[in-house]
Amino acid sequence: MISAVRGTRDILPDQVERWRRVEEVARRVCSRYGYYELRTPIIEREELFSKGTGESTDIVQKEMYAFDDKGGQRVTLRPEATPSIVRAFVEHSLEQSLSVAKLFTLGPMFRYERPQKGRYRQFHQLNVEVFGVAEASLDAEVMEMACTLVGELGIDESELVINSVGCPDCRPVFSEALLNALGGDLSKLCGDCQRRAKTNPLRIFDCKVEADQSTIDRLPHSTDYLCDACRGHFEAVQRHLRLYDQPFRLSHRLVRGLDYYTRTTFELLSSKLGAQNALLGGGRYDGLVKRLGGPDRPGIGFAAGLERLVLALPDVNDQMVPDVFVAAIGSLAQDAVFVLARALRAGGLRTLVDYEARSAKAQMKRANRAGVSHVVILGDDELAAGEVTVKTMATGEQCKVARDKIVDVLLSAS
Ligand SMILES: [Zn+2]
Ligand SMILES: [Zn+2]
Repeated sequence: MISAVRGTRDILPDQVERWRRVEEVARRVCSRYGYYELRTPIIEREELFSKGTGESTDIVQKEMYAFDDKGGQRVTLRPEATPSIVRAFVEHSLEQSLSVAKLFTLGPMFRYERPQKGRYRQFHQLNVEVFGVAEASLDAEVMEMACTLVGELGIDESELVINSVGCPDCRPVFSEALLNALGGDLSKLCGDCQRRAKTNPLRIFDCKVEADQSTIDRLPHSTDYLCDACRGHFEAVQRHLRLYDQPFRLSHRLVRGLDYYTRTTFELLSSKLGAQNALLGGGRYDGLVKRLGGPDRPGIGFAAGLERLVLALPDVNDQMVPDVFVAAIGSLAQDAVFVLARALRAGGLRTLVDYEARSAKAQMKRANRAGVSHVVILGDDELAAGEVTVKTMATGEQCKVARDKIVDVLLSAS
């Protein structure tokens, strides 16, 4: 047997309904807030991510599915969507065609991580991005939309956590304060932290190593080092969240594992998910569009893990229930079954038939197993009279219905 590639998985029919529910709600909510759907290729030039996501990130250093294609071009399966969306925004000059460039995309991402419970090398995200607006009112709207989306999925008990990581003016001051505060303790931190101290000291806050936590807890907070402009922006974000009556919590450790974030960072956490508890996360990335060769436009966005949303989704009765089974009794009815099934399907009914001319008993058994709500029985007598017999499975009741009324009768019954 040939199995799926390690770290990938099939999403089976009994799960797909949950996925579709998440995707449909995501499209609906994004559309209501003025976003347009964009679909970018899953394969991109590698430099898009080394420049965009950042050379110092774990993604670029360890996790890219990068390879030379047959033409010798260095390409990679996309590890995240934001640089791709920025590329498309720049490449197609989308700011000229859209008054406010609000874009979203749904699709698979690829990271070569050590497979662990609930994490896959092919995983799926909703990505939401806005270009061209620097105002804090947008930050708050993006977060409010994320909370609305999660609420409309029926996922309750989520918590919005926010922080500000500053800008290129004030971040170097904070980075230096971090390194000063660490002092000699830096050598006691884990290897990743020591590497981060050199490349992007803020990311020491991402460390999950237990032994490092007491040291990290004593470090200064980015919000105490913001420049006046960043502080004003962060205060305005919080004021706008309060306008929405949107509860939130400040967390100075929320720096997100990417290099491009500026000012606002945020996550939406769920108490239902255990250790990997972030449903979605994002922030502002005001320098990224320019860094990727575009005009100097601010940007903000978030990525939601579809696996996590699907996992946190409450159960509803979403089994695929076929509506109708058409059973043939007698030889003449065998052919008529297929014509009747076509008419039922054209009328919008989910319809199953038996292809193998089995006994009436075997067909009823199959109808039972399929969980249909009604069985339409077509015998030679019914055929001659222009009628069918409809059996309601829940009650066992049977009645005769004229052949040309059957679609209406079944539609009004279901
Ligand atoms: Zn600043
Ligand atoms: Zn560490």
